[in-house]
Amino acid sequence: MSSCPVIAIDGPAASGKGTLARRLAAHFGFAHLDTGALYRAVGVAVLRAGGDPADTSRALSAAQALSADDPVFADPALRGDDAAQAASQVAAMPEVRAALLDFQQAFAARPPGGRGAVLDGRDIGTVVCPAAGAKLFVTASVEVRAARRVKELQAAGLQVIVQAVQEDMKARDERDSRRAVAPLRPAVDAFVLDTSALDADQVFAAALAFIRSKIGPA
Ligand code: C5P
Repeated sequence: MSSCPVIAIDGPAASGKGTLARRLAAHFGFAHLDTGALYRAVGVAVLRAGGDPADTSRALSAAQALSADDPVFADPALRGDDAAQAASQVAAMPEVRAALLDFQQAFAARPPGGRGAVLDGRDIGTVVCPAAGAKLFVTASVEVRAARRVKELQAAGLQVIVQAVQEDMKARDERDSRRAVAPLRPAVDAFVLDTSALDADQVFAAALAFIRSKIGPA
């Protein structure tokens, strides 16, 4: 494994983990991997091919065909709720998770730039990088997360029904937390950060204090 520092950030949808991960990566000069984008890319590939995201063999083929420079990563559809729902369906399949694991672990072991890595997702501290130097579990109430998600979707120019966003989020939380393989849960040694009543600067300050206590000032 790597001698580079690794920061693992897990948490449910719209908890603020992506914003935090990007900010920490910029602060430390580390490479950042949004692992949710990998599952979204698989979901979008299946949908685009006219397939059903519940079809394991199609999802597995899409996962195996995915490359880091796939144009789907720049596609706005990747951020939409259809992609999110499809992602959480394919993410429940052990075959798909196994197919994406090597790429994530290689990124952590040999991050671009060579200084360190920040990975965010659902199972980074528990499965992908169990030896990460600092693990955070970022969470918030479902109401706060749904409100954030609505803002994000509207900012991306998408039409939004608030009630539907909240229901989709609950369904996704449920699927991500209850699946048999790599369910969403904090690692035993994770710092749990509830961002419901915090702004992005407060979240960053709390995370930074914890990370410095674990891996030093870097
Ligand atoms: O983080 P994001 O909302 O983009 O993730 C989309 C979906 O991908 C999640 O709902 C989850 O089902 C799946 N995922 C996962 N493991 C990860 C990252 C994302 O299962 N490490």
